[in-house]
Amino acid sequence: MLMRLGRWLRAAGYDTGLAINGENDRDLFQRARHENRRLLTRDHKLQEYRHADGTVILLRGNALDEQVHELGQRLDIDWLYRPLSRCLVCNTPLNNDAPDDIPIPDDIDRNSLQHCPGCGRVYWEGSHSRRMRRHLEAWQQNT
Ligand SMILES: [Zn+2]
Repeated sequence: MLMRLGRWLRAAGYDTGLAINGENDRDLFQRARHENRRLLTRDHKLQEYRHADGTVILLRGNALDEQVHELGQRLDIDWLYRPLSRCLVCNTPLNNDAPDDIPIPDDIDRNSLQHCPGCGRVYWEGSHSRRMRRHLEAWQQNT
């Protein structure tokens, strides 16, 4: 349920794991502990596990903006930490090694390409990334 928030944390540059399809609560919790991560959830049952304190962060908001606000009260989030430096899909840090033959729109500067060595996706600066940056900037100013 917090997938959107998770993708935005990736957009801000944070190393963010997401729940895997079909992963049960216990496995998710164990994985978070094992990987030394905070577990953001709206599921209050997760708070009842042993050692949940310090790992589980329970958010109540339904809307993304509410969740961003709540999270800001619990953790010191810098929404401009490393904007758009990670793959939104697989979380791998991006590099500048996009293959030369990758097809991109004509008006995109090839030097702006960022490449995900994890899944092969290519990102570039355009209207979508500019919109994302504006979101991150707004959150940073308001939290
Ligand atoms: Zn990727």
